[in-house]
Amino acid sequence: MLIVMKKGTDEKNINAVIDAIEKRGYTARPIPGGDRVSIGILHNAGSVDRAHFSGLNGVKEVIPVTKPYKLVSREFKQENTHVRVGDAVFGNASLPVIAGPCAVENETQVLTIAESVKKAGAQLFRGGAFKPRTSPYSFQGLGEKGLQLLAKVRQETGLPVVTEAMDVENFTLVEEYADIVQIGTRNMQNFSLLKRAGQSTRPVLLKRGLSATLQEWLMAAEYIMEEGNENIILCERGIRTFVRHSRNTLDLSVVPAAKKETHLPIIVDPSHAAGIRDQVIPLACACAALCADGVMIEVHNHPEEALSDGAQSLHPDQFSVLMSKMNAIHAIIKE
Ligand code: PEP
Ligand code: MN
Repeated sequence: MLIVMKKGTDEKNINAVIDAIEKRGYTARPIPGGDRVSIGILHNAGSVDRAHFSGLNGVKEVIPVTKPYKLVSREFKQENTHVRVGDAVFGNASLPVIAGPCAVENETQVLTIAESVKKAGAQLFRGGAFKPRTSPYSFQGLGEKGLQLLAKVRQETGLPVVTEAMDVENFTLVEEYADIVQIGTRNMQNFSLLKRAGQSTRPVLLKRGLSATLQEWLMAAEYIMEEGNENIILCERGIRTFVRHSRNTLDLSVVPAAKKETHLPIIVDPSHAAGIRDQVIPLACACAALCADGVMIEVHNHPEEALSDGAQSLHPDQFSVLMSKMNAIHAIIKE
């Protein structure tokens, strides 16, 4: 249930509505909006009787919320959420680009890649220090040393850094270094990790699970927001299908579908969807045409020697080509 207050309603009326909600044993959650104040009702076991609230002073409307997700839904908040990190804004019709290697490998590697992606126009740098690998024998990441190298990248280039927290145990360490904490595909329904991310002051990049529906993905985001963190960026990265011509299938239609359901920004990672370098530029162009709220691309200075995901990593010169093509499309398409 959502209670919409009249424009210009004073604090006293708002607090009286909050008290009335809490007296009935529910949780009241004021929603910051453009020109109206709304108050969401959460943690109600059954249906809520609107008559309890519709007659209170300052109440304009009482709207039943039909979706299982509440805080992340467009029903609760109509305006797009803007997530600001450094100079980048996700959700305001711009197209911020996050670029960098799959994994942090060494200082020369990250600094070289960071300089080149920055020159080409990337606004944020990515790199995994803790890597979720299918095989226990594959490179698992440099851990804290990798995070320190990311801090060096930020210091040298000014680019904010995005890196993954794989579990609750290392979350505190990761958030100390990261400007955006990534929750990876394999962890989309790791509910304790989602709750921990919800207590963080860092924005969270929530990747879609390998076979997650839009509803399951938004419920995962709800876990984060329910804990108090409203800075969430969704990231489509391809889903598992029967095809063999790409590593995963990039679900482009989820972008307009998600925008209808949620006020959160949604970006796309064509690199993990494709798994093959040749497909990344055309898919990135499609992301720009779709009005995605950003793009994440893997780039490596020596992809053939990369310790992970070399086959999908672009050479720096290919990344420059991608940036100019995407920017040209974005300039035509943006609203
Ligand atoms: C990554 O971005 O480094 C990564 C592991 O991606 P995903 O969780 O989408 O597989
Ligand atoms: Mn990768």
